[in-house]
Amino acid sequence: NAIELDDVVKEYLSHGEVVQAVKGITLGIAEGEFFSLLGPSGCGKTTTMRMIAGFEDPSRGVVRLHGSDVTDVPPNKRDVNMVFQSYALFPHMSVWDNVAFGLKQRKVPQQEIRQRVGEMLEIVDLTGREKRRPREMSGGQQQRVALARALVNKPRALLLDEPLGALDLKLRQAMQIELKRIQREVGITFVYVTHDQGEALTMSDRIAVMNDGLVEQLGGPREIYERPATTFVAGFIGTSNLLAGTATGGVLPVGGGRVLVPEQDGQVSVTVRPEKITISTEKPNGDVSVVPGTVAEVVYLGTYTSYAVSLADGAEITVFQQNALDSTTTAERGDPVWLSWRAQHSY
Ligand code: ADP
Ligand code: MG
Repeated sequence: NAIELDDVVKEYLSHGEVVQAVKGITLGIAEGEFFSLLGPSGCGKTTTMRMIAGFEDPSRGVVRLHGSDVTDVPPNKRDVNMVFQSYALFPHMSVWDNVAFGLKQRKVPQQEIRQRVGEMLEIVDLTGREKRRPREMSGGQQQRVALARALVNKPRALLLDEPLGALDLKLRQAMQIELKRIQREVGITFVYVTHDQGEALTMSDRIAVMNDGLVEQLGGPREIYERPATTFVAGFIGTSNLLAGTATGGVLPVGGGRVLVPEQDGQVSVTVRPEKITISTEKPNGDVSVVPGTVAEVVYLGTYTSYAVSLADGAEITVFQQNALDSTTTAERGDPVWLSWRAQHSY
């Protein structure tokens, strides 16, 4: 593994009280992987990243980089580099000088500097802009300069802490694709911190979903979306409907309908994704979960329509229906409808 955390804990002393920012994280990040730490603000993402970089000492536990224990090794002696949200470029220097700075400091020969900086600017698609100053560039371009500057030293891993946070949505989405391409091209390990689930799902090979100082689930984007391990993960990733109650014989009664659940009996709570639910005006047949309701809201969103459906018990279920060319669903506000979904889509 490129990076390993072994039961890493970080405690801070805050106003005389011990605060556990990271409560015991164990994970391994493979060489060349695009790995994301995803979670809400304050869950410990930055602290975890800073322990990998060496800016923070763990209170307990071990950090390994490429097989060696670096827990007590200072940041400048670790073979990783970090990119921040606030690009931290030198404002008075040109793009070229910003990128070349580290190499000059390390007395790398002129010829090699010229070659490596040139190559790197080509990878981040800034060839021709060498003489610009950071303030003459857009946010996205500045971020690419910061990226080139971090990558030109050829670190074995790059740590990125919410690097796109300052960009507007359109630019952020373009940069997500760009970052993924750059990572593939340079082939080094990326550890990416974000609170944006869409961003993590788009770019990552694997994601660690964090909550309150712990990893709640670690897996590929699809696995995390389709099979959330906890209620927290289900709620945090995407939109989901949470249904709870007492099941009998694998059936949970919900608002005058029946939901097929994995557990046989007792207190259960299941999650259903809005896009797994079919909305129809006729009562569906077959071995499916079936719940009656009334359309409370219809929002047309281009590629799909979002319905809020009220149930007899007052609960509300969100349904997303694809707007295919031959779409026949025409439920409107106030219409009585039936919701149905297959058993495997309740989890
Ligand atoms: P995230 O990056 O996920 O938003 P952080 O790692 O920055 O979360 O913070 C995790 C928790 O640790 C928060 O509750 C934060 O207030 C606390 N924390 C972070 N840094 C310090 C510090 N230097 N001193 C005290 N508490 C801190
Ligand atoms: Mg943070």
